[in-house]
Amino acid sequence: AAPVISTAQVTYDTDRAHVFHSWSAQKSLRPMVIERSEGCRLWDGDGRSYLDFTSQLVFTNIGHQHPRVVAAIQEQAAKLCTIAPAHANDARAEAARLVAEVAPDGMDKVFFTNGGADANEHAVRMARLHTGRYKVLSAFRSYHGATAETINFSGDHRRWINDYGSAGAVHFHAPFLYRSEFHSETEQQECERALEHLDSLIRFEGPQAFAALLIETIPGTSGIMPPPPGYLAGVREICDRYGIVMICDEVMAGFGRTGAWLAVDHYDVTPDLITFAKGVNSGYVPLGGVIIGERIASTFDDRVYQGGLTYSGHPLACAAAVATIETMRDEGIVENAAAIGRDVLGPGLRALADKHPSVGDVRGLGVFWALDLVRDRETKEPLAPYGGTSPAIGETLAAAKDNGLLVFNQYHRLHIVPPCIITPDEVREGLAILDAALDVADSHTVS
Ligand code: PLP
Repeated sequence: AAPVISTAQVTYDTDRAHVFHSWSAQKSLRPMVIERSEGCRLWDGDGRSYLDFTSQLVFTNIGHQHPRVVAAIQEQAAKLCTIAPAHANDARAEAARLVAEVAPDGMDKVFFTNGGADANEHAVRMARLHTGRYKVLSAFRSYHGATAETINFSGDHRRWINDYGSAGAVHFHAPFLYRSEFHSETEQQECERALEHLDSLIRFEGPQAFAALLIETIPGTSGIMPPPPGYLAGVREICDRYGIVMICDEVMAGFGRTGAWLAVDHYDVTPDLITFAKGVNSGYVPLGGVIIGERIASTFDDRVYQGGLTYSGHPLACAAAVATIETMRDEGIVENAAAIGRDVLGPGLRALADKHPSVGDVRGLGVFWALDLVRDRETKEPLAPYGGTSPAIGETLAAAKDNGLLVFNQYHRLHIVPPCIITPDEVREGLAILDAALDVADSHTVS
């Protein structure tokens, strides 16, 4: 008899024959087939289950397959699947109202995009039209998207090969005490010196050149580094001094991830523009956007905004956002993320750091945490180089996965970023697996 080929194998073979994957050399790829997902768990083609401490690309804040969001998409599909952006539509209007409601006072308008990169593209375009200037400041340790412009605003290594010098990007060092560029010993020093550096960079580059400063409120992919108290307020002051539009990128940090609706809520700062995507509807249907403060919004009261997208404010995506935000409110999901970070995940990760010499630093809040893995705690030599990986990291990730835990990784870091709905028991289950995986990382340290 002919051998029986599983449906998972057919999916895998078809994928390998036809799907061109992101950020990868295609030939060596071995993608995992996912058959099912629910809450904080996934099941692969062999029926094995995994705790998802990645939230995929840090977007399933409400967890997988939340029934209320799935039902809202189904109802919207039956009612009005799609409509052009020029028309008014109840799902789009209500999504915009709810997004503006979670934003700081005075930020009442929302421009919808399909994701995070185009949100940043449009925010920068608005800033350029508003100021009549071109250049854009952004941090070296940052990620703002993969379009031609946003990959240049991004600091991480993926910019290098895509950098044609055409985006007007100028990079600065944001504060990061553990790997301080400023030889700081305290958060306060790091804050003051990072602000001095930014101010000096702007003065020497020419303040009149800058349209915008684009900054992740809490940098995500590049290391989850909550800024020291006073830093973002200082950035706001510098932007005001030089007439630069302040854009906070909340694509990853927004909508519950940090235990607040938006990460700016932790810092008492109001930017001119906020960009969002991911958690706004947990990626059930692609959606992003720009929340626009009064000053920039009024620029376009009588002047045409030269920008748009065919699917801006797509009804299915907006219905998913409405259901997501309402459900997060009704079920206290943002509060849960805060409590989990404060009472279970934060203390649990710090306990792992005490035990494992490979953990050089633990940073984060809510369900947004990074472990900085090092070969040597004294020198802080990373367990993989900037822009690369290493056998030590590969083996550590494999140990976690073999025992049913998926964690997010960049370079030498593990990011512990589960859905905001995670329970204390699920956190403890994941931490136990992580504990064993870190034994593997420890075996690569000098101690
Ligand atoms: N900005 C930040 C902070 C992000 O983390 C990302 C994606 O990870 C983006 C922008 C780009 O979003 P997208 O991939 O939806 O274009």
